[in-house]
Amino acid sequence: MTDPFRLDDRTVIVTGASRGIGAAVARIVSALGGTPILVARSTDALEALAADLPGPSRVVPGDVADPVVAEAAADAGAKAGTLWGLVNNAGINPYYSPLTETPLDAWDEILRVNVLGAASFARAVGRRLVEAGRGGRIVNIASIAGLTGLPNIAPYNASKAALDAMTRTLAVELGPANVLCNSVAPGTIGTEMIDQLMEANPALKERLVAKAPLGRIGEVNEAAWPIAFLLTDAASFITGQVLVVDGGRLAAG
Ligand code: NDP
Repeated sequence: MTDPFRLDDRTVIVTGASRGIGAAVARIVSALGGTPILVARSTDALEALAADLPGPSRVVPGDVADPVVAEAAADAGAKAGTLWGLVNNAGINPYYSPLTETPLDAWDEILRVNVLGAASFARAVGRRLVEAGRGGRIVNIASIAGLTGLPNIAPYNASKAALDAMTRTLAVELGPANVLCNSVAPGTIGTEMIDQLMEANPALKERLVAKAPLGRIGEVNEAAWPIAFLLTDAASFITGQVLVVDGGRLAAG
């Protein structure tokens, strides 16, 4: 029996692969036999990661909101003849203030990366997956922030809810081509994004952990493995879903 958890001969584009959850996903894709295409703005970090992976990879540096970058990454995958997946992971959350005090420009800045970037990649990759006719996967990295009313990060929350809406539409539109689309909604995972938020608000960590049934924040691989699972044949009947990976945080209310 072929191992349904492997990704041999499958190319997967991972945006935001220079660090954090995206880098962990790229490492797992490579460990499972797949070929990650690494996208982010920090070329040096992507090249260092590529050099450290156990198998082949490609580096496509650039801003996810630039459609030229999405086309270049999708072309690199299509030319390899093994394009299989897209993980829309690049995201930003640079503000922490009530909506009434958040500048309107913040909405443009966050939606441009978190939503337009993901839509641009889904458009470029989805088209090529349908053309190739071998099926495929799109995984959008959303957040529990898109499922509840977390204060002080309204544009980010809205951007993640938008990704879940996009996931459901993509699942319906691309299902007939056997391209499965899901969101993963992590809770708090220890990465640079969270470190920056906590530096600005030292009380935040205690608040986040106090509400977590497991009594801790998650590690990057605890978010990355469920994302990788959705790329594998083991997940071949799951589409249009939001997989919550939060250590029980939402369940606790
Ligand atoms: P990090 O800040 O550690 O990493 C973000 C990644 O996105 C980096 O690789 C960064 O690379 C890339 N990126 C940011 N902006 C752009 C851009 N304009 N173009 C290309 N790449 C970009 O974040 P995390 O690993 O924590 O987060 C990854 C995803 O998971 C995000 O979508 C986030 O919203 C989501 N998430 C994270 C949670 C957490 O607790 N950590 C919880 C829930 C969701 P570079 O700067 O090199 O471009």
